[in-house]
Amino acid sequence: MKPFAYLRPTSVQDATAAYATHPGSLYLGGGTNLVDLMKHGVETPATLIDLTRLPLHALQELPDGALRAEAGVSNTDLAVHPLVRTRYPALSQALLSGASGQLRNIATTGGNLLQRTRCPYFQDVSKPCNKREPGTGCAARDGVHRDHAVLGHSAHCIATHPSDMAVALAALDAEIELYDGEHGTRRVPAAAFHRLPGDHPERDTVLRPGEIVTAVLLPPPAPGSVSLYRKARDRASYAFALASVAAVLALDDGRVRHVALAFGGLAHRPWRAAAAEERLTGAVPTDEVVREAVDAELAAAVPLPGNAFKVDLARNLARDALAALIRSASGNPPAPHRP
Ligand SMILES: Cc1cc2nc3c(=O)[nH]c(=O)nc-3n(C[C@H](O)[C@H](O)[C@H](O)COP(=O)(O)OP(=O)(O)OC[C@H]3O[C@@H](n4cnc5c(N)ncnc54)[C@H](O)[C@@H]3O)c2cc1C
Ligand code: SF4
Repeated sequence: MKPFAYLRPTSVQDATAAYATHPGSLYLGGGTNLVDLMKHGVETPATLIDLTRLPLHALQELPDGALRAEAGVSNTDLAVHPLVRTRYPALSQALLSGASGQLRNIATTGGNLLQRTRCPYFQDVSKPCNKREPGTGCAARDGVHRDHAVLGHSAHCIATHPSDMAVALAALDAEIELYDGEHGTRRVPAAAFHRLPGDHPERDTVLRPGEIVTAVLLPPPAPGSVSLYRKARDRASYAFALASVAAVLALDDGRVRHVALAFGGLAHRPWRAAAAEERLTGAVPTDEVVREAVDAELAAAVPLPGNAFKVDLARNLARDALAALIRSASGNPPAPHRP
């Protein structure tokens, strides 16, 4: 690992001021992703700004019923909080489906959102990669790309975003709170926080240089809504999603009053399924209607030679998830589910 300077600010203002005087520094959360990338030579910051001493560890309900989880809250603490378990099961399930208990104890909410892709060519500095080194090419396109994107990819990058948590946040209409010394605080919808690769795959998110994720805000759930997260992967645990889905549903007199669907493992960002949601909203959600809605969303998929299976996988996950929520929202017991 290359030598680097190490700073330990104790306030958000000091952290962004430290970035201003050391541009190009990297922020450090739990380090479970960043330190690995530094060991592989993928990230070579001259300065690391450790955020773990910032006062960003609160998880609290706001007067309007929203839940505010600060960026330093661990993945474990967020997943097991009683309000998260009861009001936002999709978020709790997504977090608990990721990594391992030890990693979740250390990994932070901010770091989870900003973890980098698991594309093996990105992690191997001997291979061309437009994300790691713009203009060098994409080794995955003609290489092994079984795990890569089927939606929204570009000629420059076909990587997927790895976070399970981010998929649940997108479906739950969460917002990401950001701070920098120049612009102050702003909020970005979780579904718009990560980018598609386009011509600039080196930019994963809409974060400005030096900006810090300070919190995640979850609005009160839609009245009567139910939610869940389903993930398909090569192993039953300790594996990233091949495809996943977060779904939220509320019914009124047998018709869909509210639905939100987001896919993970399919694109460079959590993929909010707007076409499917539009077809489902106001409809009686029969099997046929659900199938047509999910098919309409996945019609946009452009699979690569090695990953066409992901489209069927995502279709089945989404139909299964919606069927389970429809049963639950109708007051029926859930059908048995094999994870
Ligand atoms: C073996 C293994 C298996 C895994 N499996 C899964 C899985 O199945 N699903 C899943 O979702 N994840 C999985 N992960 C990833 C894990 O969830 C992430 O490594 C973790 O969430 C990152 O959080 P961190 O706090 O350690 O981030 P760090 O490693 O500290 O940082 C990650 C990035 O975020 C930036 N950053 C950190 N905090 C902030 C902030 N507040 N503001 C701005 N930038 C910030 C850092 O600069 C860095 O670029 C796995 C990891 C490992 C090692
Ligand atoms: S898919 Fe993206 S991250 Fe992977 S090698 Fe290509 S450019 Fe790099």
